[in-house]
Parts: sequence; C-alpha cells; structure tokens
Amino acid sequence: MGRRILLHRLADWSNPALSLVGSRDRPLRMMLEPTGRLAGMRQVGARGWSGAGTKRKCVMRYVIVPVTPFQQNCSIVWCEATSRGAVIDPGGDVDRILRTAAVNGVVLEKVLLTHGHVDHAGGAAELAGKRGLPIEGPHEGDRYWLEGMAQQCRMFGLPAAMPAVTPDRWLVAGDTTTVGEVEIKVRHCPGHTPGHVVFFDEKGRLAIVGDVLFAGSIGRTDFPGGDYDTLIGSIRSELLPLGDDVSFIPGHGPMSTFGEERTHNPFVADRTAGWRSRI
Ligand SMILES: [Zn+2]
Ligand SMILES: [Zn+2]
Repeated sequence: MGRRILLHRLADWSNPALSLVGSRDRPLRMMLEPTGRLAGMRQVGARGWSGAGTKRKCVMRYVIVPVTPFQQNCSIVWCEATSRGAVIDPGGDVDRILRTAAVNGVVLEKVLLTHGHVDHAGGAAELAGKRGLPIEGPHEGDRYWLEGMAQQCRMFGLPAAMPAVTPDRWLVAGDTTTVGEVEIKVRHCPGHTPGHVVFFDEKGRLAIVGDVLFAGSIGRTDFPGGDYDTLIGSIRSELLPLGDDVSFIPGHGPMSTFGEERTHNPFVADRTAGWRSRI
C-alpha cells in the first residue's frame, strides 16, 4: 500500500514549463510508495480539499521553487485576479525564480522575507535590484543576520559571498501586506531567529512559515539568537490557533497542515504539551 500525502509543489523542479502549480483550491495530490519514491501526482479539484472557498474573488495561487544547496522552499505567490505577486524567501537561484514567475505569468511587485538566514534571503538583494522591487520583512530582530550575509556564507560553507540585505519595510506582529488584491497577515514568530515572521493568507487558509515549523519537526534553535522555548511558544500561540485546516509551506520539505502537526508532530502535538525533546 502506498502512502498518500497532499503536496503543493512542482512536479519537475528543473523545468518550470512542465511543472504543476498548486493553490489552496487546487492542491496537488502525491502518492508515495513505502520507500518514499514518488508513485504519482495529480491535481485535485476544489471539492477535494476541505475548507477551500470556491467563491472567493481574490484567490492566492503559489508555486514552490526549491533554491540553494539547502533546497529551501522559495515560494512565488500571486493574486489570481491581477497576476501581481511576490517572491517569498529568494535564497538564491534568482534566474530560475524569475523564469518560473514568467512561465506562470506573474508580475512581481515585491520580495517578502520570513527571516534573515542566507538560504532564505541570500538572493533578495539581487532579485530586488534586477527588478526594482521593494523588500518587506522580516522583523527588525533579524537585522544582524541580513547585515552579516557575507559571514553567513562562510558559516554555512557557501562559495559565493552574498550581499547584505536592507529591507524597505521591517514588519511587526499584526502588520498586513498585499499581493495584488490579496491581503496577507503577518505573525511574529521568534525562536529560530529573533525576527522571524510568518505570512498568512487567511481567506485561502495558507501560511508560509519559513523555518518555524516543518512537517514532523521544528526549526533549529542552536544558531545565535535562537531559543527553543521561545520557538515552541511561537508555534503554540501564533500558528496552531490559526486553525487545523490551515495548510503551510515550510522552509524545507513537504507541506502539511496545522491540524496534522497538532496530531503527529513530536515537538508540538497536543499530547506532548510540556514534553521537551531535542533531536
Ligand atoms: Zn533559517
Ligand atoms: Zn532554512
């Protein structure tokens, strides 16, 4: 028997023209064999995805582009009505991000950053410079990461020195931003880094959570400025209350839902409240 999981990402990373695009209304369904090998993938209709609104005017669509040697889930999100969109966490591979945006007919209007780590923000200055885009986020608590981009490249063993990033707008808890006609809410979720933010499309029930939460795991807290208890607190108070039906794109690995993590994630599941573990 194969294992079925919902997935919302490109079927073929190397060729955006052949890729499938998921949205909250039309996610991709992937069948994995027990070995983890991909057995099949297909797009499902709106009715196949509980909680999806089919009459919303401002639908946000997205496509995931894994970038950098860390295979970070850079996301291109856009408003279906206007085709105006944003790149969230362009860690690198900027030309591939731009090609994917073009293939999907997206007119980029901004860069959004969840946090200042190089695999998420390393390509932000290049992308913003090439297209004249403003950079929004993260919270100012990550200023030291963005200013120290060159040191980060050395720290993470990357060959090239990425330029420092200077956001046009720092974000704080409760802020909102937009792509086209879609409103995106900002949550401040420190713990992995002090200035980490999460983007939430409330109507579409989709969150882009960076390195706060992963399917079955949580972000590392052993970097300067990281804190385990703060991270767990952020997940419990800022993310999980958004709703079990909310899908999320993590910074690395497959998508999941907050309901799934509340049930099975060993770090933050309801049954493990108060239990600490460090893998
Ligand atoms: Zn990170
Ligand atoms: Zn990362």
